[in-house]
Amino acid sequence: MDDPTIHGALGKSITQVYTIEFQKRRLPHAHILIVLQAADKFSTSEHIDKFGSAEIPSSIENLRLHEIVTKCLMHGPCGIDLPGASCMEVGQCKKMFPKGFRTATIMNVRVYPLYRRCPSDTTFVRGREMDNRFAVLYNPYLLLKYNAHINVEVFTSLREVKYIYKYIYKGFDCANMVLSAGQVQYNEIAN
Ligand SMILES: [Zn+2]
Repeated sequence: MDDPTIHGALGKSITQVYTIEFQKRRLPHAHILIVLQAADKFSTSEHIDKFGSAEIPSSIENLRLHEIVTKCLMHGPCGIDLPGASCMEVGQCKKMFPKGFRTATIMNVRVYPLYRRCPSDTTFVRGREMDNRFAVLYNPYLLLKYNAHINVEVFTSLREVKYIYKYIYKGFDCANMVLSAGQVQYNEIAN
C-alpha cells in the first residue's frame, strides 16, 4: 500500500461530505462521502483489492487486524441464526447477508461492486460461526490506526453517488417536542 500519510488512506480527496448521527446507544456514527481525484478513482477491481478487503485476515499473518475485523467488521448474526435481528425484513436480511463466495472482485454490478470473498475457514463471532460471506468492506490501514468499525464502500457511477448523498442526509430518528408552562391542551394541527 502507498504511504497513506502522503496520499491519503484511499487516495487524494478533492471533496468530502459528511454527517454525524447519534444512534440509540448515544454513540456518534459518521457517514462520509469522499470524492477522489481522477487518478485515484476506483476504476478497476485490482484498485479496489489494493485498498479494501471483505475477507477475514489470517490470525497468523496479522493477529491484530484479524481481531479488529472479527470484532467490528462482521455483519450479523441474522437470517436463520437470528430471525429477529434488526436487519431482517420478511424473512430476509435487508443488506443481503450472507453474500456469495467470489474469488475475484467484479466492478459495477447493482449499487456496489461485488467484492472478493474467497471460501474461508469459519471463525466464531458473537457466538456464531461465520466466514468471509459476512465480512463488510474495510481498509486495513484505517482499521489498524483507529481500531473501530469503519466500513468503506466503493461507488463508481453518478447514480450511486446520488444514492449515498441522499443516504447521508436522510436524517436520524428524532422527535420534536415543545415544553410549555401550564396545562397541556391537545391541538392536532400544532402536534
Ligand atoms: Zn443481516
